[in-house]
Amino acid sequence: MSWRLKKKFQGLLAAERGTIRKDWGGKIAFALVYPNTYAVGMSNLGFQTIYRHLNALPDVVCERVFLPDPEDLADLGRTEGVPISLESFRRLTDFHMVGFSVTYEGDYVNVLRLLALAGIPLRPEDRRPNDPLVLMGGVCAFSNPEPVAPFMDVVVVGEGEELVAELIAAYRERADDRERLLDALAALEGVYVPSRYEIVYAPDGTVGDVLPQGATPAIVTKRRLRNVNAFETVDAVKTPNAEYGHMALLEVGKGCSRGCRFCLEGQVYRPVRHRSLDALRETVARVAASGERRVGLVGACVSDYPWIGELLKIVEDTGLELSISSIRADSLTDDLVAALARGGHRTLTVAPEAGTERLRRAIRKAITDEQILVACDLVRAHGIPNLKTYFMIGQPTETLEDVEAIPRLAERMLERLSVPDPNAKPFGRLTLSISSFVPKPWTPFQWAPFAGAEALQTKLEIVKRGARRLHNVRVLHENPREAALQALLARGDRRVADFLELAASFDGDWRRALREWKGDADFCTTRARSTDERLPWDHFDVGVKKAGLIREWERARAEPPVAVGAA
Ligand code: SF4
Repeated sequence: MSWRLKKKFQGLLAAERGTIRKDWGGKIAFALVYPNTYAVGMSNLGFQTIYRHLNALPDVVCERVFLPDPEDLADLGRTEGVPISLESFRRLTDFHMVGFSVTYEGDYVNVLRLLALAGIPLRPEDRRPNDPLVLMGGVCAFSNPEPVAPFMDVVVVGEGEELVAELIAAYRERADDRERLLDALAALEGVYVPSRYEIVYAPDGTVGDVLPQGATPAIVTKRRLRNVNAFETVDAVKTPNAEYGHMALLEVGKGCSRGCRFCLEGQVYRPVRHRSLDALRETVARVAASGERRVGLVGACVSDYPWIGELLKIVEDTGLELSISSIRADSLTDDLVAALARGGHRTLTVAPEAGTERLRRAIRKAITDEQILVACDLVRAHGIPNLKTYFMIGQPTETLEDVEAIPRLAERMLERLSVPDPNAKPFGRLTLSISSFVPKPWTPFQWAPFAGAEALQTKLEIVKRGARRLHNVRVLHENPREAALQALLARGDRRVADFLELAASFDGDWRRALREWKGDADFCTTRARSTDERLPWDHFDVGVKKAGLIREWERARAEPPVAVGAA
């Protein structure tokens, strides 16, 4: 390891509070890997939670590994060329288990790059007996892990809080016999061992059948945490070098009951489970006692927390400042906005998702224009200087009218946000964050085709052109080509693994890999699927019933298109 890199790691560690360091003697060594940079990984509450739970086990030492920054990758290439753990600078091959926490499909390529850099064969069948057991968890693992499954010994499907102790117990008993270990793990609820399932393709290229081997269950059932009060979900390590390093992140519960038809989180984290007010009171008190000044409440829909008023009071009574990532416009209250303003919030975020009420009904995010405008009034009344809004383009049933309505709605919002008020500071900026819709597994839109990068680019230009004439409006957006990559990885089957391997061999250049890959990306992305088709993720049960999804898909398509000149 180069001197410069060592200094950098030491600097990161020195800036942390809460780093867990354990002696390695006789323990199971677990490398917890976030396949993106330190700054991104350390902002992920799920990653931090598993780090804490693993280290709470007396016979486990868990250390963190991140994708090196681009300039460090070159440095690693010149020296030993291996990613190393932050806590003790050990190589991935020194660990017994290597677990990837994956939140974004776009990071799959990084998973493979890290394995290759570490000298761990990419496919389990090529690994040697003393290579670490390679695992994957995170929301991608219980959405559709198939494109990356051929590289994994084990995939954790669902919430890992309880499961980590069971995985370690199984490893402890059978570490010296990989096959017996995999058999034991495959029998655990929420554990998927890809090598134990053979995928058979039909003549038309769709998945024809999935054949479990031996005693492996035919369906992998998601593990769900039954008692959310039994485990505290608050970040373990604080660092100024993470996006949310200036606040303690605290999860108020899991799941969301709103059922927006595009939303993966709203489906796969069901049923809704709220942490009790008493449990949160305890955590908030501990956060305050630790010297933290700000707490960020995290959850699929924080403003739906049933005792949100009481929780705000608890936070304020402890003297902590409050932050919430995004709030539904229809559950904004005067009290909530006032508390956020007192907590120093400079930007409030709402997600209308669509420019017209018609499309919002079709995607089942039934917020009215008036509710969005009232949210603007509250922002103005409480002196919060900026408003950020999330919109999506390319959703099922969308017309040009729906797209053109986005800047028109922005104009109306701006009017309300700019109302002169001698007691308030001038309004700062309205941000339109425009993302491209990717139909996700386990949602009613899983059968919808992805719109395609070119069509999305055209729609994006319409929004940008419309917003250009508005003052104090900024448009942020991703490249629709990246959404196309996400669609391939979110909706693909195991054959997409070859594409990932190619991309990793080109140092992550997925555009080149897409050009050279022999597979058919459109087959996975822009093709509409029939509800009779066997989907690549149908051998999982994440608690979402297909009949309900079909019903919702039909209802969405029954929403009449917007009338010309409406909205
Ligand atoms: S988009 Fe938000 S409100 Fe809708 S289901 Fe998802 S988390 Fe819930």
